[in-house]
Amino acid sequence: MSVSGKIDKRLKGIVFNIYGQKIPCRPVKNMAQTTGDIGRFYYVENEIVFDPDIEPLHTLLHEFIHAMAHRLSWNQFLEKQAEEMLADTIALALMENFEIKPRKVRKS
Ligand SMILES: [Zn+2]
Repeated sequence: MSVSGKIDKRLKGIVFNIYGQKIPCRPVKNMAQTTGDIGRFYYVENEIVFDPDIEPLHTLLHEFIHAMAHRLSWNQFLEKQAEEMLADTIALALMENFEIKPRKVRKS
């Protein structure tokens, strides 16, 4: 938990580009306590929300993979539980092997 109650500015304004589709990522303070989730991809709203205080990078990667899966219609051949397992394990393996930070899209 952050002591100040403020959201780390590095976690603000993140917009993923998933094969040309822009998906904004919105940090939500205390999301884990209020919803029981630390992250979620809303495909209808086209948005990712995440708790900025609990493993945000892993959560963002996990939700990124869900957004990829949706964009590529993986649900046609992949069960929900398998998708969850892939999202978690791929996110972890990427973090173990690459220096990853979310890229921001500047408004011009
Ligand atoms: Zn998930």
